Amino acid sequence: MQQPRPETHVPSLVVGWVLAGSFDEVDRAAIRLARSDVLRRLEEAFPAFEWRMPVVRRAELGQARRIEPVELLDAGVIEREANQWDFVFVVAAADLQSYFRPYALGAPAQSIDCAALSTARLDPDMTEGDLPRDERIALLAQRIGALALHLFGHLNDAPHSEHPEDFMYDFRAVSDLDRMTRFSEETRKVLEEALTEAADLRLEEEHGVPRGAFRFYLHALTDRREEIFSAVLQVRPWRFPFQFSKLTTAAASTLIALMISAEAWDLGMRQPAAHVALLSALALAGTSYYLIHKQNLILHRHARRLTEQQAVTALSVIFAVVLGMFTTYVLLFLTTVALGQTLFTPDLIGEWATSLHGDVTMTQYFSFAAFVAALGISIGALGASFEEQGYFRHVAYVDEET
Ligand SMILES: [Zn+2]
Repeated sequence: MQQPRPETHVPSLVVGWVLAGSFDEVDRAAIRLARSDVLRRLEEAFPAFEWRMPVVRRAELGQARRIEPVELLDAGVIEREANQWDFVFVVAAADLQSYFRPYALGAPAQSIDCAALSTARLDPDMTEGDLPRDERIALLAQRIGALALHLFGHLNDAPHSEHPEDFMYDFRAVSDLDRMTRFSEETRKVLEEALTEAADLRLEEEHGVPRGAFRFYLHALTDRREEIFSAVLQVRPWRFPFQFSKLTTAAASTLIALMISAEAWDLGMRQPAAHVALLSALALAGTSYYLIHKQNLILHRHARRLTEQQAVTALSVIFAVVLGMFTTYVLLFLTTVALGQTLFTPDLIGEWATSLHGDVTMTQYFSFAAFVAALGISIGALGASFEEQGYFRHVAYVDEET
C-alpha cells in the first residue's frame, strides 16, 4: 500500500564526497572543515532543500603523484549510482593531469553530475610560507570549500561571474579562492532553478514505477531536454576536430586521396542525393556508435535499476559525440566544396567523370562533397580510436580545467 505523500515534503539533495587516495593529517582536517562549511553555505543559500553530504573513502585510488581526472570521475559515478546521490565531489591529494592549461585544480563534468578536485596545489604552505597549524588548516579548508562550490556551480549550469567574492568568479590564482565567500544573487537564482529540477528528478525516482528501457530513455529525452542540452553545450563538441588530431589527420588524408582521384569524382558525382544523404546518416550514426563503444564513454554499472540520471548521462554523451562527428562532417563537406570550386573546374571534372558526359552541375559538386565527408568521418573515426582513452574521455567529459 502506498503512503500518501505529506504536503510539506521538503525536497532533499544529496552531495556525496569521495576521498580518493591517502591524505596527510592537515589535508584530512581541512577536508572535514571544508565539507561542513560547504554544507552550511548550501543550507543558508538554498533553505528550500534538505541537504545531505555523506563521505566515502576510496584509499586505493590516486596514489600516484598525478592522476587523470576521468579516473576520479569514474570512481565518483560508481559511488553516485550505488548510493543514489545527486552530485559528487571526488577529492584527491594527487595533482590532476591537465591538457589545455599549465595545471588544473578541478575538473567539473556536468553530463555525469560529478566533479574532481585536488588539494595538491591548495596548501597555504606553498603560497603563504609557514603558518600556525590552525591557520593553515582554516585557509586550506576555505580554498577547498570555495573550489568545491565553484565546481558545484558548473555542475548546475551557473556561468562565471565578474565579482571576486562570488564562488563563480573565474579565478586565476590559488589565492583568489581566499576571497570567494558567497553566491551572488544572479548565480543563486540560476542554481536554485537547476537544483529544483534535480530535486524533482530525485522525487520522481523515489516514487516512480520502473518502465521499459526504451520508454525510459524516451521519457528522459522529452522530460529532461534542457538538462541534456546544457550538458552537451558544456562539452562543446564542436571542438572535436580541433582537439583530436588523429581524427582530423585521418579524415583530411581521406579527403585529399579522394579529391585527386578521377574515379572518386566519377563515383561521388553519380550518386543521387538520396543515396549520399543516406550514406552520410549511416556514417554519422556508425562512427558515433563506434567511438562511444571503443572509447568506453557509456559505462554500464551494476546499478540496482536504470535511473533517470543514468539515462540523462547516456543521452548527453551520445548527443555530444554525434554533434562532434557532425562538426567534422560539415568541415569536410565545406572544404571539399571550396577546393572543388577553386581547383577542380567543371572542364577538368567533365573529363574525369566520364559517365556524366560533361554535364557537371553544382548539385553534383555537393553530392561529391557529401560522399567525401561521409567516407572522411568513417576513416577519421578509425583514427580517433587510436586517441588515448584517457585523453578522449577527458575531452568528452570535462567541461573546464578549473
Ligand atoms: Zn569555472
